[in-house]
Amino acid sequence: MATTKTAAAKTTAKPKATKKESNTEKMENSEFHQFFVDELKDIYWAEKHLSKALPKMKKAATSPELATAFETHTEETKNHIATLEQVFQLLGEKAQAKKCDAMEGLIAEAESIIEDTDAGTMIRDAGLILAAQKVEHYEIATYGTLVVFAHNMGHQEVADLLQFTLDNEKATDIALTEIAVKTINQEAAAE
Ligand code: FE
Ligand code: FE
Repeated sequence: MATTKTAAAKTTAKPKATKKESNTEKMENSEFHQFFVDELKDIYWAEKHLSKALPKMKKAATSPELATAFETHTEETKNHIATLEQVFQLLGEKAQAKKCDAMEGLIAEAESIIEDTDAGTMIRDAGLILAAQKVEHYEIATYGTLVVFAHNMGHQEVADLLQFTLDNEKATDIALTEIAVKTINQEAAAE
């Protein structure tokens, strides 16, 4: 019975009052704006870093299909960079890159996969797909949240631009999954 009471109390609990002095609110808003811009700088660095890594991944790929996918996404990544520059402009901010440790780590992982596998093997491709999908999922997580933030802040045009990139990252992830399925099938057939 005690547990029922606790559960009921939980569901009916109301959030604490958030009424604040208008000055505090303004300061918080500008702090959030700065936080948002900092996160944009982070993904801007990530996209730039990725645009340099993707051609190397293309070169390392075994199957022409995977190589083409990396080539396509190199061009798309350049569009993501241009889109972010548009976003900075809309916000009246300077387009500036701030080192993204996560993307640096993900790219380092892709590089070590290239080092650890032999050229011309399907294992190489399997490793590259894994590394690339980790990158795409990181981007999907980032843009997904940034779209919500932009929308909540009333920057609808910014939200729409970021959503466009988000949709492309999701499509890339799906395309990589399709190549992964084929790669595994080919590997199984070769055994
Ligand atoms: Fe991207
Ligand atoms: Fe991407």
